[in-house]
Amino acid sequence: METKPLTDLVPPRLWLPELNSPLLIAGPCSAESPEQLFKVANELKQSGRVHYLRAGIWKPRTTPGSFQGVGLEGLGWLRDVKKGTGLPFSTEVGSEKHVYEALKFGVDMVWIGARTVSNPFVMQEIAEALRGVNIPVLVKNPLSPDMDLWEGAIKRLYNVGIRKIGAIHRGFSWWGKSIFRNQPFWKIPLDLKAKYPDLPIICDPSHISGNRNLVPFVAKRGVDMGFDGLIIEVHPEPTKALSDAAQQLTPSEFYELLNFIDSIGNPELSYPDDLLNELRAEVDIMDDLLLWALSNRMELSERIASVKTNRKMSVLQSKRWGQVLERVTNTGEKSGLRAGFIKKLYNTIHKESISVQNELIEKS
Ligand code: PEP
Ligand code: MN
Repeated sequence: METKPLTDLVPPRLWLPELNSPLLIAGPCSAESPEQLFKVANELKQSGRVHYLRAGIWKPRTTPGSFQGVGLEGLGWLRDVKKGTGLPFSTEVGSEKHVYEALKFGVDMVWIGARTVSNPFVMQEIAEALRGVNIPVLVKNPLSPDMDLWEGAIKRLYNVGIRKIGAIHRGFSWWGKSIFRNQPFWKIPLDLKAKYPDLPIICDPSHISGNRNLVPFVAKRGVDMGFDGLIIEVHPEPTKALSDAAQQLTPSEFYELLNFIDSIGNPELSYPDDLLNELRAEVDIMDDLLLWALSNRMELSERIASVKTNRKMSVLQSKRWGQVLERVTNTGEKSGLRAGFIKKLYNTIHKESISVQNELIEKS
């Protein structure tokens, strides 16, 4: 059957009365307890920027025995949290039964996970269960970098009459060496967006990154590339999270992310249409990470300057500097960096740090 192009979709600004772009969805990877949900939802609500709380209650896990989600019980918690905070909630559905259960509890939006999207039988079942339902449905990309599979899942929903549809870019499984948990292959979501301009595309930096330090930089890249929204994992105590502990942000890190994505963007991003530009997009993210680390390092130097002044110590501490250089040279060499390069780099950093400290001490 020839499917109609997705031209009459309802845009996100009409999903909620007060919604203004970009669409922001945030919350823990998994619902764990009512306390956890209330804590995070209150903080997210206070930002005034989050449109939907996210929390998985059925978790499709790669490894049996790992936390599979709290199940049905979590839906009651989410409903109560919505009552208490006014924040609409969304969760992942992986079967028609999940759809019926979630609807019973007044779910405001659902998403379909990467593992489910790859299965056309299940996708069709979920689509049928959603027939006639008016909530937005978000479709994550499948694990494999396969645009047709992603598009096919979206069309199954469209064909049963759903018009509030969004796509989520969560990166793709890849066998190559990468700093990302899931390779972004930006060309695929951007091609989807170019083909269906009415289809909102939401970036999921948490699952692309797999590491909380990278999340803000991937989020910024997504916003600068014109994505229509973000879905971010936020947990009151990420290190204790029962799933995806390494990639969830604390609420305060999430607030920093919001400031960062509001900062001036890069107007000259090249469209990642080939390997070279894909790699360049990755280099840009690494550069952002380096600059972030450098500015944090410099801030520490400034704090050290004030301690040194109080203790009447001189700025240059040769013994300590020797130890720093030795440590970074050893660590760097283990990571495949050449000793000569590390020495040059650290001499420059050290010089800057000394001059910043001297300036501060002169001023004080
Ligand atoms: C999730 O959003 O927590 C999740 C399980 O994501 P994905 O389907 O992208 O792996
Ligand atoms: Mn997750």
